[in-house]
Amino acid sequence: MLTRRLFLTTAAGGAAVLAGARGTAGAQYDLLIKGGRVIDPSRRFDAMADVAVSKGRIAAVQASIPASAAGEVVDAAGALVTPGLVDIHTHVRSADMPGICLSQGVTSLVDAGSRGADQIDSVVAFAKQAPNRVRVLINLSRAGVIDEGDLMDFSLADVALAREAILRHRDVVIGVKARLSRNVVGERDLEALRRAQEITRPLGLPVMIHIGQGFSTIPQLLALLKPGDIVTHMYAFPPNTIFDGKGGVLPEVIAARRRGIRFDIGNGRTGHFTWDTMAEGIKAGFLPDTISSDWTDAGRADHVVDLPNVMSKLLMLGVPLPQVIAMATSQAAATFPAFTGLGTLRTGAPADVSILELREGSFDFIDNVNTKRTGKQRLFPRAAILGGKRFS
Ligand SMILES: [Zn+2]
Repeated sequence: MLTRRLFLTTAAGGAAVLAGARGTAGAQYDLLIKGGRVIDPSRRFDAMADVAVSKGRIAAVQASIPASAAGEVVDAAGALVTPGLVDIHTHVRSADMPGICLSQGVTSLVDAGSRGADQIDSVVAFAKQAPNRVRVLINLSRAGVIDEGDLMDFSLADVALAREAILRHRDVVIGVKARLSRNVVGERDLEALRRAQEITRPLGLPVMIHIGQGFSTIPQLLALLKPGDIVTHMYAFPPNTIFDGKGGVLPEVIAARRRGIRFDIGNGRTGHFTWDTMAEGIKAGFLPDTISSDWTDAGRADHVVDLPNVMSKLLMLGVPLPQVIAMATSQAAATFPAFTGLGTLRTGAPADVSILELREGSFDFIDNVNTKRTGKQRLFPRAAILGGKRFS
């Protein structure tokens, strides 16, 4: 290293020539992301800086690294440079979906229960073919998400089958999803959650529950969760919300967070939030741990668009930019042990980086009841770097 640096400083002219040729052995770094505002909430870093990458890992984050030091330079002028976005609630229903998410800045994502034990092999195959990092939560229902309600036929909540499917795919399946709305499970939501815990407890894996429009109260559900479990659609509207009706959230909700239960947005399309519930949560100081999209093809066309668009909704409601980015990077990565070491631009971390544009103007956003609000800022994806390789 010392010799190489010495070489670059002493032979400045020669170094520039070498840097022009991609992958030339003379370059100190493989890739340099230059001229952006780097926001890395994992280190409370927010400054104009360059990010250098070597051998697929972050090599340096500092001001004014010369372009000549790298084999390839990515221009990030006017853009934000953040850790690669992590979306913990999406639906991978086709082989091309992960790549679309990558083009939207998402370097790691989780399929949240699209499939159950009967079809887990198909989603695992999509995950393994994906260019980015895809992990899977298996649906408690062996039939997965189905129109008639995943668990309306309660015999579909098959503990042994789900456990066997997880053991076959431990490298990809990292937890269980239980959808607990009344039109999914009827009045047996608590029983369903108990079965999900029967699967996950012995394996030390989390359960993600989907709340909203359910039969039991939120405190009843929370009582059955263990530290590390996740509540998605946290701002679901009545009946049965996290709110106390007096401008705050229920004490059981605060207690749940205190004992390590995580709360996630899960934007989706219907039933998951209104501007009022989201604003009420933010005002009460009960912010999300994670911002997720609940991405589907339909959602991509209207409600969700992409994860940066969902992040923009929280910006519009007054959550500061670095905090919004934390919810889709460091805090999202902290949700699952499989993502340990991601969501950061710390030296030595995998070089997963998102380049985003924060544009000023007039932008329309909709909530899950199709109410429009107009914001002054919106995040757009410009490019993603995955393991040190650039995708646009
Ligand atoms: Zn979902």
